[in-house]
Amino acid sequence: MSAAKFDQIGQVLREHQRFAVFSHVRPDGDALGSQLALGLSLKKLGKDVRIWNDEGMLEKYNFLPEADLLTKPPAEPEDVDVVVALDTAIQNRLGTTVGAIKSAKIWINIDHHPSNPGYGDLNYIDPRAPATGQILFELIKDQNLPIDRAIAENLYVAISTDTGSFQYPNTTARTFEIAAELVEAGVDVGRISQLTYENYPRRRVELLRELLGTMRFNAANRIASFSLTLASAKKLAVLPEDNEGLIDHLRAIQGVIVAIFFEELADGKVRVSMRSKSDKVNVCAICEKFGGGGHVLAAGARVKGTLAEVEKKILEEACDVVSRVS
Ligand code: AMP
Ligand code: MN
Ligand code: MN
Repeated sequence: MSAAKFDQIGQVLREHQRFAVFSHVRPDGDALGSQLALGLSLKKLGKDVRIWNDEGMLEKYNFLPEADLLTKPPAEPEDVDVVVALDTAIQNRLGTTVGAIKSAKIWINIDHHPSNPGYGDLNYIDPRAPATGQILFELIKDQNLPIDRAIAENLYVAISTDTGSFQYPNTTARTFEIAAELVEAGVDVGRISQLTYENYPRRRVELLRELLGTMRFNAANRIASFSLTLASAKKLAVLPEDNEGLIDHLRAIQGVIVAIFFEELADGKVRVSMRSKSDKVNVCAICEKFGGGGHVLAAGARVKGTLAEVEKKILEEACDVVSRVS
């Protein structure tokens, strides 16, 4: 991606005053960390910044520096100059935040999803970047935007969570260089890693136990999946955020190529989350068939139907794809 694009974005950031920084529904570490990092940098520039997410700040990411600045959108719409959408492949995944904007002069769209159609006036989409947080770091450096320890820690969490702690194949030499620069900017690696990965509520582990009880294998043990019913979610009093990352327990099994998590939702749909361990199996393509999207190795969809119906449809499709891989 061209440096000229960073110049254009930098100019818009410098020349306007009122900003709204958004990301996707069911936010992850990259979404929330990126929102706070850019929001904080703009605030240091003296800008008037709103940092809104459909769900507000999640309990599990409450430790992010300045987490309180990220809230649900207000009921009364507001006028801003610039909206920046981060880490959001399609505009409707911004959820209720869009309705809280009465008017905006410019929309900026910064993302790393290959399926992002470029719905902004200014788009910076780099599918090779492992995290939106990595693109933001490059933007901040290139444009000499403010960075401090709080911003660095937010970017570090964004990059660490989207690379599976610097393990997924999208992790590059540049990712480690950036991590080193963030540590030099003040990130306390031990403290931040513990808060990110070793601070789960007990109910999350109870949820894992429940899910493992439903685990089954298809396609000669190359597909592993588990499911969460609404009744089980209610029984365990789990929050939607509690299941982030649990699918990795399936992916981690020897011989498994595709991991699938089915979550029954209250609106008559099922949330499907998919991971692949082989670049020969593109789970984004599978999810796109069902109206979803994502990345080659990590994708999702929300599919209408009962849990049993959706499991059957998705598993059939996944088995078909996996059976064509040697
Ligand atoms: P998840 O399994 O929810 O962690 O999502 C994995 C990846 O797929 C993320 O990069 C999401 O942005 C993308 N994704 C998940 N659900 C959807 C959806 N319904 N539509 C488009 N992309 C999705
Ligand atoms: Mn994300
Ligand atoms: Mn991301």
